[in-house]
Amino acid sequence: MQDFPWEFETLAVRAGHTRTSEGEHSEAIFPTSSFVFSSAAEAAARFSGNEPGNIYARFTNPTVRYFQERLAALEGGESCVATSSGMSAILSVMLGLLKAGDHVLCSRSVFGTTTVLLQNYIAKFGVEIGFADLTELASWEAALQPNTRLLFAETPANPLTEIVDIRALAELAHRNNSLLVIDNCFCTPALQRPLELGADIVVHSATKYLDGQGRALGGAIVGDAERVGKDVYGVLRSGGVTMSPFNAWIFLKGLETLSLRMKAHCDNAMQLAKWLEIHPAVEQVLYPGLLSHPQHGLAKQQQTGFGGIVSFVVKGGQEAAWKVIDSTRMLSITANLGDTKTTITHPGTTTHGRLTPEQKAQAGIVDGLVRVSVGLESVRDIQGDLARGLEHGPL
Ligand SMILES: *Cc1c(COP(=O)(O)O)cnc(C)c1O
Repeated sequence: MQDFPWEFETLAVRAGHTRTSEGEHSEAIFPTSSFVFSSAAEAAARFSGNEPGNIYARFTNPTVRYFQERLAALEGGESCVATSSGMSAILSVMLGLLKAGDHVLCSRSVFGTTTVLLQNYIAKFGVEIGFADLTELASWEAALQPNTRLLFAETPANPLTEIVDIRALAELAHRNNSLLVIDNCFCTPALQRPLELGADIVVHSATKYLDGQGRALGGAIVGDAERVGKDVYGVLRSGGVTMSPFNAWIFLKGLETLSLRMKAHCDNAMQLAKWLEIHPAVEQVLYPGLLSHPQHGLAKQQQTGFGGIVSFVVKGGQEAAWKVIDSTRMLSITANLGDTKTTITHPGTTTHGRLTPEQKAQAGIVDGLVRVSVGLESVRDIQGDLARGLEHGPL
């Protein structure tokens, strides 16, 4: 990674771009699958690794490199590898860093597909999978094994916004010679930098806030040059889960407004959470910015903002929750998050619908739970749209 002398907001706008001889001001898209060599000797030198440079777009592409260098600068990591989706970022970490006989210890509160990936696919290759309760360090400690190669957590977690102490979890991992991988999707580096807190690797679904406008699928891994720059990059080079240059350009431009957008998401979410908390039809609000959140103090310590996701429990169970959702006219009923447009979902019958009643109870996914990814519309309009269903719900 290049060393830039700039602050976060400047890095988000300027890091990673090398202008071509055309003098373009905005970053260029390079829609090319391969790159040309000046001679057979140069081709040989590039292929052997003796000379740096582009060979083929599955390995490197200048637009993708701009995005990787900018995100590496924002997360404070040596290396970044961009992937075709958030899930292929997680897959690449697992394929690059694990071997048969290793053990992965994963938080129970992670994106549903992450659990499926580990249990149904990674486990097929002789990797043991264990689970721990995100917020309970004792639960992580009890589940550690001598062969635990990596710990995987998402904080804040979806949809209940529980938070783990990254510094403490990193210390625990390192005492066991394990690596800590953090999915930083909910906060983005604008609000939380896990590497500074001791985590070894950060993964992203760029699909969410890094784009921020719901336009493209992408992912990224940030960490040190050896593990991410060599081991994880090798999976991409040979496995091909590469990010397209068109998508890289979208994410690159998304990063330029990341700080501003995250501030606005946080402001709207805070106002919405406070409004919901005193609404008579609402039983509970889960938002790290509220004093009532069990890890509010920790959130204040390790995050510079509380994020854009607000979950709440409506009185009256699933019927009342569905009524709130179906009474909206503006909010989008969709499972995506991190968009300028506010989205609303019922986790119990969508993202977490495949869990058994016992698993749901254990995970805190109650029937009245509604998750809102607060967008950048006027918060008064968001409240107005939610008020309709809440007022008609049972009190
Ligand atoms: C969406 C999401 C993913 C998966 O990302 P895709 O880009 O959809 O593959 C992983 N982790 C979290 C926390 C997510 O929200």
